[in-house]
Amino acid sequence: MVAHQGDCPSAINVVMLGPPGAGKGTQAERLARTRKLPKISTGDILREAVQAGTELGRAAKAKMEAGSLVGDDMIIAIVQDRLNRADARCGFVLDGFPRTVIQATALDRMVSNRGPLVVLDMVVPDDVLAQRLATRRICGTCGSTAAPDWTGACVKCSGALVTRVDDEIEIVTERLKVYQRQTKPLVDYYSNRPNFNSIDGNRAPDAVTAAVEAALNAAIGAARRGVAL
Ligand code: AMP
Repeated sequence: MVAHQGDCPSAINVVMLGPPGAGKGTQAERLARTRKLPKISTGDILREAVQAGTELGRAAKAKMEAGSLVGDDMIIAIVQDRLNRADARCGFVLDGFPRTVIQATALDRMVSNRGPLVVLDMVVPDDVLAQRLATRRICGTCGSTAAPDWTGACVKCSGALVTRVDDEIEIVTERLKVYQRQTKPLVDYYSNRPNFNSIDGNRAPDAVTAAVEAALNAAIGAARRGVAL
């Protein structure tokens, strides 16, 4: 069922923007937990499809392993479908979508009548991103990202930690280029909107979370006061 603002007067729809390694996933997960919203990560959806060997996974695998983006039409259809599910009726946290202006335009269409879109752009210098991605480990079983200094098993499911295939150095370089070319233009796309927030992501995760929460509270306050978003 498609949501309408009347069903959910306080719906908050969040987009996490930023390059690979900026901490979008970590912050999206925290926000989803505290605000009781679904975290929708297109990267996670695609990785699960690859692991399960579905048609979608087979279509996406080569692009993902090369560090390039999968096609707009495919990813837009996935997100549209996901946002129509009941748990996203009163808001969501999007991690990894949109990544192109075409996707952002499609998202604007999807969220009209669904409450404000709050955009959180995580800003982290390139050298810090490269360092983070070089040391990032995910669970080989459930796919969740481990805390940066954690060397034990996955805290969620006890699976063994592994490096993400696309975190290999050559692929990371390509992903950062793809970000500059295709996703960074979204900062211009959104930056004139009152609910665009630039967040300094080059800090300890808890400090970033505090900034994210403050930005979201400000957006919710503005929405309640009826300020156009
Ligand atoms: P992520 O986990 O968000 O870094 O995504 C991993 C990979 O999945 C990306 O490098 C892309 O190949 C693909 N992907 C995820 N989200 C999108 C998207 N919105 N548009 C196109 N490709 C995507």
